[in-house]
Amino acid sequence: MNNFEQLGLNESLLSAIKDMGFENPSEIQQKAIPLLLEKDTDIVALAQTGTGKTAAFGFPLIQKIDVSNKNTQGLILSPTRELCLQIANEIKQYSKYVKGLHSVAVYGGASITEQAKDVKRGAQIIVATPGRMQDMINRGMVNIKNIQYCILDEADEMLNMGFYEDITSILADTPKEKSTWLFSATMPQEVARIAREFMKTPEEITVGHKNQGNTNVSHEFYLVSARDRYPALKRLADANPDIFSVVFCRTKRDTQSIAEKLIEDGYNAAALHGDLSQAQRDAVMKSFRGKQIQMLVATDVAARGIDVDDITHVVNYQLPDEIETYTHRSGRTGRAGKSGTSMVIVTKSELRKIQQIERIIKTKFEEKPVPSGIEICEIQLFHLANKIKEVEVNTEIETYLPAISELLQDFDKEEIIKKVVSVEFNRFLEYYQKSSNSLQSVSQGRNNSKEVPTDGAVRFFVNLGAKDDLDWMTLKDFLRDTLELGRDDLFKVDVKDGFSFFNTEAEHAEKVMETLNGLEYKGRRVNVEISNNDGGRNGGRRDHNNRGRSGGGFRGGERRSEGGFRGGERRSSNRSSEGRSDRRSSEGRGERRSSEGRSDRRSSERAPRNERGSRRSGDGDSSRRTRRD
Ligand code: AMP
Repeated sequence: MNNFEQLGLNESLLSAIKDMGFENPSEIQQKAIPLLLEKDTDIVALAQTGTGKTAAFGFPLIQKIDVSNKNTQGLILSPTRELCLQIANEIKQYSKYVKGLHSVAVYGGASITEQAKDVKRGAQIIVATPGRMQDMINRGMVNIKNIQYCILDEADEMLNMGFYEDITSILADTPKEKSTWLFSATMPQEVARIAREFMKTPEEITVGHKNQGNTNVSHEFYLVSARDRYPALKRLADANPDIFSVVFCRTKRDTQSIAEKLIEDGYNAAALHGDLSQAQRDAVMKSFRGKQIQMLVATDVAARGIDVDDITHVVNYQLPDEIETYTHRSGRTGRAGKSGTSMVIVTKSELRKIQQIERIIKTKFEEKPVPSGIEICEIQLFHLANKIKEVEVNTEIETYLPAISELLQDFDKEEIIKKVVSVEFNRFLEYYQKSSNSLQSVSQGRNNSKEVPTDGAVRFFVNLGAKDDLDWMTLKDFLRDTLELGRDDLFKVDVKDGFSFFNTEAEHAEKVMETLNGLEYKGRRVNVEISNNDGGRNGGRRDHNNRGRSGGGFRGGERRSEGGFRGGERRSSNRSSEGRSDRRSSEGRGERRSSEGRSDRRSSERAPRNERGSRRSGDGDSSRRTRRD
């Protein structure tokens, strides 16, 4: 059975499904819909968010409602206001061709009397958060004594949030002979207890393994020392230029402070936690959905019910106290058939938790080194080159071309290419050269993880150059003396302005890293990294050309070929946000930080951190600058 007609859905629903562009039922839909249509039964369905479970209960519920009867027949309980609104919205879309069917969303933070009025007008389906529902029952504003269907969505989340009492009290107010459909991502004791107490021999449907995370999600961890958590986070963001992520912290305080730091450093970030007012949270979520925010820093509680498709990464800035919570976090990505990545920044003392999580999710984590500064520069460079390749040229530009051509007439094609990409490349390079302290400590974690090659020649990057009064000879002497190596052990010494490259045989690589990193040279802390550039010999470990060729290079290209979803969507949504922020900037307001702690600073101003002034063009019209995304 692999299409909607065969599941037994009626014409009204099939037309709505067609409008929504769903082609094939998801696994949970294939399993739940025929069963629920065929008989009135209780079910326990174990399914992650993003698997299509709203339709799995929504379609059969809509088909079973008697539209000639205005009484409330179906109640859907969901953990958060966000999720409640989302479900209500989906139900409206599914039932758009079902005449006479009315559904109402009931949740805290909005007028209870208005909601009660909507219910009184004849809502056959109520979608509610448990707290508000209980409140309305206590005030006699709803009557659920005759409902036939009760759906508990994300039951584990509702119980996690302390709604046990409300749920049991609401269920006690419903008739015994109704059907209860319980959906949960995990099956902790409390959920099993609800099932035992309130359900009659429920049928069990499982998508994937019990408690197993979404299989579209790959799990990675990055081992760092505690003080390198934040620099590691920034590097992960910089190494993923298209990141659209939720960053989880353990406390509200950390959430706020990490978001603030990210904003300070020029990232499109915002905080989401319980100390914000509902209006502030709504504003943050609106910006996040609109993709004006790339990094939503959130607590577990506040992030519950975030059902945003297309989240590319979940970042566990800190692991949750309750290991089970990891499943919920990682389930925010890899939704609706797309793939996603859950990254964990861990310290040595937390490694044991990774093993515990692996047992729960029945999936292995991949240990990865925090990307080095030079890797990030490369990624950003190819990201830009890729963007240049794909950008649509607006005909408006023709007006300016003669003047621009004249301005650049002294440069040949190669020089122009170099200059264009340097605009972006230099910012990252300068930044990562300057941040040698944090680079060093993070890359030590990386070096611990078997990154040092064992054979062939190895090319190194060092943050010393002509600026430090070095030329190839003096640098070679310095290296030879410091490393106690022979004259022929160092070769291909190539000194640039702010940095240099040199080669050694692999047998010396560890010594190079250990001896030079952290050393002071004329008051500057030395930072050495293994370079991807092979310096003309076969010493590097990666092949730039290959990356460039494989579908557009680096992550932007890879992502597009995987799911094909982000490029277009994100570009367009960002274009609109760009329009807005350009207006603000050109009106002289530039950066604006709202009370929710989000920044409207343009992402083009991100990585050069603290160099915004220098990027402002002389004519003061920042809107002419290129946006990074
Ligand atoms: P849910 O798990 O219900 O939150 O659904 C996640 C997303 O998948 C929502 O945006 C749905 O609209 C979408 N969706 C649900 N079912 C299907 C389907 N059969 N085909 C494509 N998308 C779907």
